[in-house]
Amino acid sequence: MTSFSSMTSSSATPRRRVAVIGAGPGGLSAALAFHRAGHEVRLYERQNAVRPLGGAVLLSLPVLSVLRDMGVNIDKLGAYGVTEFRNHQGRLRTRLPFNSRAEARAGLPGWHYGMLRSAAVERMLQVIPQDLLHTRKTFKRYTETESSVTAHFDDGSEWEADLLVGADGIRSVVAQQTFGDLGLFHCGIQVWLAWCHCDSVPRDVGWISHSRQVQASFFPILHNGQAAHEWWVVEPWNEGKSFKGDVKTHVMGLLKGWADPLPQLAAATDFEKNCFRWEVYNRPALQSWSKGRVSFVGDAVHPVSPYAAYGMGMAIEDGWWLAKCLEGLDLARDQDLRQGLARYDRQRVDYTNKNAKVARYMGYLFHRTPWPLSAVRDAVFDHTGFLEKALVQNYLKDAEQQMETLPIGAY
Ligand SMILES: Cc1cc2nc3c(=O)[nH]c(=O)nc-3n(C[C@H](O)[C@H](O)[C@H](O)COP(=O)(O)OP(=O)(O)OC[C@H]3O[C@@H](n4cnc5c(N)ncnc54)[C@H](O)[C@@H]3O)c2cc1C
Repeated sequence: MTSFSSMTSSSATPRRRVAVIGAGPGGLSAALAFHRAGHEVRLYERQNAVRPLGGAVLLSLPVLSVLRDMGVNIDKLGAYGVTEFRNHQGRLRTRLPFNSRAEARAGLPGWHYGMLRSAAVERMLQVIPQDLLHTRKTFKRYTETESSVTAHFDDGSEWEADLLVGADGIRSVVAQQTFGDLGLFHCGIQVWLAWCHCDSVPRDVGWISHSRQVQASFFPILHNGQAAHEWWVVEPWNEGKSFKGDVKTHVMGLLKGWADPLPQLAAATDFEKNCFRWEVYNRPALQSWSKGRVSFVGDAVHPVSPYAAYGMGMAIEDGWWLAKCLEGLDLARDQDLRQGLARYDRQRVDYTNKNAKVARYMGYLFHRTPWPLSAVRDAVFDHTGFLEKALVQNYLKDAEQQMETLPIGAY
């Protein structure tokens, strides 16, 4: 990561034009960050409104901190609790520690906060000027000269900008034009993600629990300021296999023999309205996200298996960092742009690639390990401190370090 203190920063950033493609969490964050930096921003979305993916999400302290830094109200947005890893019978494997230095820097307790995606997106929309958003605009391609980049849309319209930000998700058309075939591959797992109200379940703790092949987890959330829970189940699933049958019967079958409160939460869920299914895809890591006058945020360049619970979070961080790394530079000047985008790449690429790799590895480890290795794995996780060491080293350490050094004001 770049030492941010070494970056130039000037209040006299010339106002330039930034086109952002895709109004998911990454695009909303990039649009807001560039708008706050004083640029003329247009945010293009193919749908007729901003529609967050269904269900709940966990956001961590660095993500909440950058949202707040962009003027987003994070008050009572989410609920926090201790994250515990357990086996499916409820045996505790490890409890993720809170880092008091990260908490002090963020001015917030805990690490993960659970909320509905729609709530996080609504809070962002509250501070994004309406006229910035252009819906029903499907991006087709861009053309680029030395001094500008023009986005072309399916209705024949176009807009010339100084910088184009691809935030159009895992099947990014912008990334395809810039880097060629995305090389998407199926991760061999699918996820059922749901939420419900269930008063008897504790509100200060979340579990990530595993049987030999299935993960079932829950975490407290806030829903319109009210206590609720999200829960999710991950199972092995092969590409091309269609799902047939009743979702509730299928999920309750996966949770057979599981310790409460997971079966309790599933039983309390309205499956018709509040349960979503995802098959998980990934792509090979890129070594750079910027080319000419085009750069990227979020799943367009680093889709993340839900194992790290960090894809939406990293997309939001990307948008904030991209604008931060270009602060004080003239986006119209080729040399300035190159310098700023190189900083952004240094700041984000290795960090997010590592997170995506760890998440993918965890998916394989917990769902695709063959018998009898899976039995050995479970014995090690049940009876040694290996899992805690691996999680702190590979998952928490870099994110906590990022939190401790985030260039935000004091809270
Ligand atoms: C099951 C599951 C659980 C998850 N849980 C978590 C979690 O707990 N925490 C977390 O941080 N992350 C989580 N994630 C990941 C997170 O949802 C994604 O990483 C995040 O949505 C990526 O944001 P994005 O803005 O990059 O892309 P997207 O959210 O995919 O948004 C892309 C936007 O671009 C638009 N678009 C696409 N193509 C075009 C085009 N040609 N023209 C115009 N617009 C276009 C789309 O309509 C969409 O609005 C989870 C993901 C899954 C699948």
